[in-house]
Amino acid sequence: HQPRFDAVIIGAGAAGLLCAALAGHRGRRVLLLDHWPKVAEKIRISGGGRCNFTNLHTRPENFLSGNPHFCKSALSRYGPQDIIALLRKHRIGFHEKHKGQLFCDDSAEQLITALLEECAAGQVTHWQPCAVEAVEAAAPGFRVRTAKGWVSTDALVVATGGLSIPQIGASPFGYQLAEQFGLPIVPPRPALVPLAFDPALWAPFADLSGVSLEVDIQTDYEHRTVNFREDLLFTHRGLSGPAILQSSSYWQAGKPLRINLMGEVSEAAWIQSKQGNRRTLAGELSQHLPQRLAHALCAQTGDADRRMADFSDKALRTLWQHWHAWPVLPSGTLGWRKAEVTAGGIDTRALSSSTLMAMDVPGLHFIGEVVDVTGWLGGYNFQWAWSSAAACAQAL
Ligand code: FAD
Repeated sequence: HQPRFDAVIIGAGAAGLLCAALAGHRGRRVLLLDHWPKVAEKIRISGGGRCNFTNLHTRPENFLSGNPHFCKSALSRYGPQDIIALLRKHRIGFHEKHKGQLFCDDSAEQLITALLEECAAGQVTHWQPCAVEAVEAAAPGFRVRTAKGWVSTDALVVATGGLSIPQIGASPFGYQLAEQFGLPIVPPRPALVPLAFDPALWAPFADLSGVSLEVDIQTDYEHRTVNFREDLLFTHRGLSGPAILQSSSYWQAGKPLRINLMGEVSEAAWIQSKQGNRRTLAGELSQHLPQRLAHALCAQTGDADRRMADFSDKALRTLWQHWHAWPVLPSGTLGWRKAEVTAGGIDTRALSSSTLMAMDVPGLHFIGEVVDVTGWLGGYNFQWAWSSAAACAQAL
């Protein structure tokens, strides 16, 4: 005799746990399965152990997807205030760190405990570790072969996340299952990932390690330009920091990033500043940039020690234009082992935005990071996990 459930949820990460709990509270008989020995490893390690669990300013524009409208329905029905309410219910302290980013005061473990308690209250059956070996369509519903035997279910929810950090349980299961049922996939690629730089090209700037500043950084993505204002950090090997991580999700191999090192200094003001100006080029640039950076940039021109007053307007304009959109060419990314998330995934055209169900496979749902919806840095990826989980749970 095979146990029968209303819903089997594969993956006990952020999305799977919340979906299981909410469906359980609605009276559904839920089985939650995960192949990894430890529950919700990504919540545990996220945000330096404090989990940046949402962002107060969450808007659909903070997500990258083949269909930018897809996330709207789920986000509007379960937003930052809903996950905040869950933390409050479990008396978990939290604080805003920066730009709307909310972190647990003490530890991400508290959030995991809260989600597990919600699952227990919803009578969720939780098998972990327990591998899923096969899935078959069985009109109605599905049959699932697990390490503990066959189960049958009306609905199957895939919450297996993306490919980043394979060392803590990531697997391509969700994409393989989508393929098995004929769903299209946007090729997965590492996102929110450090970028690599050619050591030979970077050599003139290697000594700037430790310099940091806020910049506007631009990336060309498909037919538009994406702009972030974030902190940029110079390292021995290249550039790093939130500015680079944010841009990495949109970066396309072979294309340079453009960084505005001139800040608010307009072209006209820069040229005018030469009037009677006895400072050297490096000295003048140091008025606007960290001194070491200004000197390294000017050394590239061969004119670092020339007085501002001695430059032609044309030469100053050329310099301003170069530093206003300083081009840097990454040589690649540091890949899955360092990527915080996976861009791409189950093509949203195949899914309902209100239920996260495959339009052509009744009962088969995909939630969280496995879907082609990727948030910016700053709590947006967990918010998508919560929102998509809640939308799906309502439909189970
Ligand atoms: P996951 O949380 O990855 O859960 C997927 C689950 O599925 C895992 O438990 C896995 O074991 C299980 N699974 C996988 N394959 C199988 C299989 N074949 N069978 C059974 N189970 C399987 N986002 C933020 O918003 N804020 C942050 O502060 C933040 N920090 C991060 C820090 C790091 C280092 C990393 C790697 C990511 C961070 N993220 C952050 C991203 C965030 O963790 C993910 O977007 C989020 O966890 C996705 O939730 P999910 O439930 O879809 O997938």
